[in-house]
Amino acid sequence: MTNDPKTTEVCYVKGVGETRAKQLNKLGIKTVSDLVTHYPRGYIDFNNISSIADAPQDEYCVVKARVFSKLSPYYGNIAIYRALVSDGTGEMIIVFFNTKYSFQRLKTGEEYCFYGKAGGNILRREMNSPIFIEAERQKFLMPRYSLTQGISHNMISNYIRNALNAYSFPEHFSEDFLSEYRLMDYNDALKKIHFPASAEEYQHAKRRLTFDELFLLQLGLKSMRNRKKILTGAKMANKDIKAFYSSLPFELTGAQKRSIRECIKDMQGDSPMSRLLQGDVGSGKTAVAAAACYFAYLNGMQSTLMAPTEILAAQHYDTLRGFLEPLGVKIALLTGSETPAKKKAVRKAIADGEIHLAIGTQTLIQKNTVFANLGLVIADEQHRFGVEQRAALSAKGENPHTLIMSATPIPRTLGMIIYGDLDISTLDEMPKGRLPVRTYGVDSSYHERLYKFILKYAENGFQSYIVCPLVEEGISEKASAVNYIEKLQHTCLKDVPTGLLHGKLRASEKDEVMRKFKDGELMLLVSTTVIEVGVDVPNAVVMMIENAEQFGLSQLHQLRGRVGRGSEQAHCILVTDNKSEFTKARIDTMVRTCDGFEIANEDLKLRGPGDFFGSRQHGLPPLKITDIGSDLELLEETRQAADKVLASDPLLQSPDNTGLKKMVAELFDDCYDA
Ligand code: ADP
Ligand code: MG
Repeated sequence: MTNDPKTTEVCYVKGVGETRAKQLNKLGIKTVSDLVTHYPRGYIDFNNISSIADAPQDEYCVVKARVFSKLSPYYGNIAIYRALVSDGTGEMIIVFFNTKYSFQRLKTGEEYCFYGKAGGNILRREMNSPIFIEAERQKFLMPRYSLTQGISHNMISNYIRNALNAYSFPEHFSEDFLSEYRLMDYNDALKKIHFPASAEEYQHAKRRLTFDELFLLQLGLKSMRNRKKILTGAKMANKDIKAFYSSLPFELTGAQKRSIRECIKDMQGDSPMSRLLQGDVGSGKTAVAAAACYFAYLNGMQSTLMAPTEILAAQHYDTLRGFLEPLGVKIALLTGSETPAKKKAVRKAIADGEIHLAIGTQTLIQKNTVFANLGLVIADEQHRFGVEQRAALSAKGENPHTLIMSATPIPRTLGMIIYGDLDISTLDEMPKGRLPVRTYGVDSSYHERLYKFILKYAENGFQSYIVCPLVEEGISEKASAVNYIEKLQHTCLKDVPTGLLHGKLRASEKDEVMRKFKDGELMLLVSTTVIEVGVDVPNAVVMMIENAEQFGLSQLHQLRGRVGRGSEQAHCILVTDNKSEFTKARIDTMVRTCDGFEIANEDLKLRGPGDFFGSRQHGLPPLKITDIGSDLELLEETRQAADKVLASDPLLQSPDNTGLKKMVAELFDDCYDA
């Protein structure tokens, strides 16, 4: 048994043991360190007192009142204990069920702070099973933790106290650093975040721990990025790409031109480009990618573009051939479903350098794909690919340039963190003449009318999507989609050629359905949420989304982006019977704007950034204590602090920074040394 809290299993903490350790594991708590960094998700502030008369009905609040009398218990199926309390503005009955112990702690004549839901009615207020403390401890903030089966607040709180007493959590910053950034000692901060004696103590502890989190995150991302400032084997020379501009069937937007300039400048640098191209659906990312490929071609280098699905790869193949073949660029498509003979031939042409641009799926990554001289790697719809997959593709060249395309707009503040290791180009301007999608929010009484609307379009040769809901809990995604199609058989849409997409289809089956839809063999596509990102069907003009309340704003925006890609006015109909304020706010936002960045900001406000962090897709460590919405100032401060450390030690190699380097490596698991 070691004494390092980072490696010591939680079962060794006094009072925990094997059984509880298993339960704690479910909360992600494996080691002693995990336990003490299981931060409270909120606190009960016993200072924030409501009078009994004004206690908000059916909401949680704190009431400070004196026990007037304890009523005689009622013993039925369960024992009910009641006490009458009063605070001068009114009286209230405090009720406990089966918890004699809590009841006994209350002393007649004494004053307490009770936290709970104020129920009952104006004449007779009631609070069931409150949490309470003696009134003189009122300054105390009581932590609330995420719990799991078998683990109560008291247990967690005791375990944490025992761990803090038994183990030491060494300070990882120097004294100078602590005083420069006005930070409390690490050990103190851990104690005070769990057992704050006052709001001020909590604030200081929270600041210290948030600082750690944001600082280490940025230190890691930035030092990884410094490491990328290796030399590229694909340094390019300035070439004139005028021929590309004049061969396009349209005038590029200002944002497209700017992004192209940014890429071209990067590719002439000594170190490889690491750039994210972000732009809303339809903003024209493909043309920017094409320009970059053309520039590589003029420099005698190969490019490769990886798409997450076959259908997207095929679509890029068609588009890019249109843009680039007239200029002499030879393009090949390499996907899993090609015959082995065809694949072999394509691979040979790539290896011989006859192909200038290889487009494909993950098949590109396979060992037997070899490039003659790969200079540029492009990954489309970035969130589908892991960091490793991109790295595998890059390994096929000599530190080639990388461009990642994403249609998920990220608010700037988040982008700074999430893509801390990338430069960002933003397509914030739509091609001219695009009609914004008209968006409506309706309830399910509109169904008949909506189906007629879709039918009318189908009769005029325009296609539609319906995103069907997951109706009931327990019913599979596939079953609910199939049920929905069944239901459509009893509506005016019964004769419209309809396809079905759901998550249980094999990739090749999905591609087949998408292809038929793209080719116009199907006029209506009923789908669960698996509609392929990025598939371009300009002829689809109606998007109807059932149970719209089940989707996040950004998701709704992505779905809406499937239509409105042609010149015909497109419509998006959000169907929901949910009347909550939250749903209403989201629907209103969707109706009001088609701007992906504005929507991303609203989403962040409404839901918080939980979606972005802790999901493996970004390869980022979860944020345990930071609240991106309100910790903006610290974000800036920690960014500067990280820059300052790295200015003198870009790769964290100095002995002074060994401790920091170790912490960063732990934070990023294995990624850091990859
Ligand atoms: P996304 O950013 O969603 O990948 P695409 O690159 O697929 O967008 O472009 C969407 C559509 O807009 C395509 O049909 C493309 O040819 C067209 N397009 C791109 N740029 C322009 C432009 N500057 N003017 C007009 N149409 C454009
Ligand atoms: Mg695209």
